[in-house]
Amino acid sequence: MGKHWINGSFVRGATRDFFTTVSPAHDTTVSEYALGSADDVHQAVKAARKAFDTGPWPRMTGRERANILIDIGHRIRAQCDELAHLETLESGKPITQAIDEINATVDLWHYAATLARHTSGEAYNHLGENKIGLVMREPAGVVGLITPWNFPLLIISQKLPYALAVGCTAVVKPSELTPGTTLKLATIAHESGVPPGVINVVTGFGDPVGKSLSEHADLDVISFTGSTEVGRQVAAAAGKNLKRCSLELGGKNPHIVFADADLDAAVDPVVFGVYFNMGECCNSGSRLLLEESIAEEFTQRVLELAAKVPVGDPLSPEVKVGAIINEAQLNKINQYVESGEHSGARLRLGGQQIPTLNGRFFEPTIFDQATPDMPIAREEIFGPVLSIITFKSTEEAINIANDTNYGLSAGVWTTNVDTAFEMSRNIRAGTIWINCFMEGHPELPFGGYNDSGLGRELGRFSTDEFTELKTIQLHTGIHTGSWL
Ligand code: NAD
Repeated sequence: MGKHWINGSFVRGATRDFFTTVSPAHDTTVSEYALGSADDVHQAVKAARKAFDTGPWPRMTGRERANILIDIGHRIRAQCDELAHLETLESGKPITQAIDEINATVDLWHYAATLARHTSGEAYNHLGENKIGLVMREPAGVVGLITPWNFPLLIISQKLPYALAVGCTAVVKPSELTPGTTLKLATIAHESGVPPGVINVVTGFGDPVGKSLSEHADLDVISFTGSTEVGRQVAAAAGKNLKRCSLELGGKNPHIVFADADLDAAVDPVVFGVYFNMGECCNSGSRLLLEESIAEEFTQRVLELAAKVPVGDPLSPEVKVGAIINEAQLNKINQYVESGEHSGARLRLGGQQIPTLNGRFFEPTIFDQATPDMPIAREEIFGPVLSIITFKSTEEAINIANDTNYGLSAGVWTTNVDTAFEMSRNIRAGTIWINCFMEGHPELPFGGYNDSGLGRELGRFSTDEFTELKTIQLHTGIHTGSWL
């Protein structure tokens, strides 16, 4: 491709330099992209600003915008195979999973279309005779959207359609590892009738592209998904010129199994919860908390199933665990496995890179006898590594669950409704799954406590991030009363 998408067409970057993406599974070049600069970001923000201040998008009816968002969803579905193939090549994720994600993306665009027609304010009719108070929701303006590499099309679709639904315009900065499907999305939206300047995509690295976007004074909102470390930098930049900022960050999510749970039902979701997307998932259930009385029996069942997980070429439809994104991530996983062994946890499965001709693959790995103070039990590894910790009481399970800086999600398996509610009320996390794990619906808000983020995406509250409230106070009839 080699070009940015700015003001409704592909344009060369100011530097005319390029970078390439490499398939983590095959070690081959996938595509070439423009190496973005601060100047490119500025051009994109300028186009988005003009489209917001004077263009048709914010002035269209909700119905008109909704129809375009619905059409985008249909076009995404029609190009599912091509998009999924590109997603798999750039991210290393299994092709069947990539197809599922594209279909889930369609649902996000279609749900957001309903919000284009339903996002509204409030009217107050009890403020006094002849007085009406109106609270209007207006589009916030130009939004900057920065996304990671682990779910490229899905994550931009948790932000962009919601911002568009309410009339905002956007500058998007996809991860430098996986920009392909985001650029394709911009052209799909163009074909559906999104006017020039409403969506702009600048490709390139965090510094300078992400950095100059988050620092740009002409932006009204910045919405970031990625690591907690970079999230802090984005929030600091947004703080400097007081723009609104929402953050979807990392997680170290507890998956908790009580002795009274339906253990047959729990095994598969526990294995899925940690190895899905190679463990490169903010929601990964990478801490398994087991009630002591069932710990060894359940661990055995998890070990047996985990040993059967098919790892390999993500283009093969049988594969469930594909390739690790890059060398840096692979090194990080290796270091955590070493740290687990040194800190006294017991390695029960895996622990090694899988030697292949090309690409980077890591064995599904399980440690038991982990304790909450160990790095493998409290830090985000972002790889296929499960740490098992035991507990004796509900109170202890809650304390362990809350004993990290994160608070994104948690899973609880129990047949006792009291236990289910006690855990749900006391775990400080944005999502609690009871007798299920990592289900998602566009209707339900998603986001984290503490170091897992700020704000919520999805659901009808998602438009709060992309709208301003305006209060209008109206007197009708003859004006009565005077100050002097
Ligand atoms: P990352 O923080 O390294 O990068 C995310 C994006 O930020 C990329 O586009 C990157 O180029 C950009 N960036 C880098 N430096 C920047 C800077 N100084 N200013 C602005 N932007 C900058 O994260 P990643 O490695 O791409 O993704 C993995 C992380 O994302 C994990 O921590 C994971 O938990 C998190 N994540 C969270 C969610 C969620 O919804 N909570 C979802 C997916 C991933």
